[in-house]
Amino acid sequence: AKYSKEDIIRLASENDVKFINLQFADIFGISKNVSITVENLEVALDGGCMFDGSSVDGFVRIEESDMYLLPDTDTFVILPWNEYDGKVARLICDIVTDDGNAFQGSPRYILKKALKGLEDMGYDCFNVGPECEFFLFITDENGEPKLVTQDRGGYFDLGPVDLGENARRAMCHMLEKLGFEIEASHHENAPGQHEIDFRYKDGLSIADCILTFKQVVKTVAYRSGLYATFIPKPIAGVSGSGMHTNLSILRKGKNIFYSEADPRGMSQEAYWFIGGLIKYAREIAAITNPIVNSYKRLVPGHEAPTYVAWSAKNRSTMIRIPAARGEATRIELRTPDSTCNPYLALALILNAGLEGIKQKIQPPDPYERNIYNIPESRIGEFGIDRLPESLKEAVECMRASSMVKETLGEHVFESYIEAKTREWNDYRKVVTQWEVGQYLGKY
Ligand code: GLU
Ligand code: MG
Ligand code: MG
Repeated sequence: AKYSKEDIIRLASENDVKFINLQFADIFGISKNVSITVENLEVALDGGCMFDGSSVDGFVRIEESDMYLLPDTDTFVILPWNEYDGKVARLICDIVTDDGNAFQGSPRYILKKALKGLEDMGYDCFNVGPECEFFLFITDENGEPKLVTQDRGGYFDLGPVDLGENARRAMCHMLEKLGFEIEASHHENAPGQHEIDFRYKDGLSIADCILTFKQVVKTVAYRSGLYATFIPKPIAGVSGSGMHTNLSILRKGKNIFYSEADPRGMSQEAYWFIGGLIKYAREIAAITNPIVNSYKRLVPGHEAPTYVAWSAKNRSTMIRIPAARGEATRIELRTPDSTCNPYLALALILNAGLEGIKQKIQPPDPYERNIYNIPESRIGEFGIDRLPESLKEAVECMRASSMVKETLGEHVFESYIEAKTREWNDYRKVVTQWEVGQYLGKY
């Protein structure tokens, strides 16, 4: 561990910290927060902060609701906002039940369990680099977001000084203060769409970082009079927002996906890992792409995947192998979007890939042309499957998956399916503008 309990207490007092936010994610990846005063820090560090688990989505039933937060000292940071009356720090927490054991339904625990499986196979680290895309919208006089962007920029454009550019710079600034190493930030394809990339880290740190990242982006946007959203397809007909994840694994400090001997510079393990991702892509989709709107992004024409295929180059497939080789060799999975619970998504992505290695699953040949050009009716001839087209289809694939059930554990598996089925049923009852426009004048 980077910090001991004593370090945290010292850091808090040296930096004039008055409040500590204890954070964790519910099963949908939504950050939950309890603020304590610095006087209660020591008790909290000993796992003494209790909360009502039955009030957190997907956690427990009311009969067994007392749960405790156990802060992970390595996640201590001082938040660079609210500096008026003493500073605010935050700690990300694990969850412990009444009997002192780790709560099996905690998303962070589920990722830790998957990472333990990686170690058991003799590997030492799962590195992940996410690319989170988001939109910045303007707000009305009441501060409510409107589906209107404020700029006319496109991919990599350097606009005239506009609100979005300034906000993005301020975001990078604040992220750096929080210890993020920003690698790139740019305008994305659609008006009002942006991306900020930060340096890869081990899977657990990255899942924690994604929660913080979203909080920072939203906070800075708000302060700039804008509204940031990570929903995958806020506007039909233009690019959606994905969360591509770049994956690599180390053994004895060496990237196992690289091989000099192979014409593509990829190792046998890299091919098998891809084989696993392809085999399980449909089963994990309800987690990597968790909301009704996620499936409006997975349509042809906007660099988002629709088919379960891989390629060494092109951006229409689900998996791409970016050109860098050697230690930078990585697999870019393009399915996920930022509304996923990063702990659960990374646990499943990892286990899908590791199953590929265990079962020695050889992937199909890469598809190097624009896959959007294959008509859906002919996709079968190429031996290629499509990704689920709706949350409903994704939940059905998940329900039938023993790998997903095993990874998430019975508790999260069941609660998640139940909640997502309800979500789909709510959506199903809505009569959309599209239907009214299409049919009202005709029938
Ligand atoms: N916005 C695209 C998506 O939905 C990705 C664009 C890119 O390649 O960065 O996945
Ligand atoms: Mg991008
Ligand atoms: Mg990418």
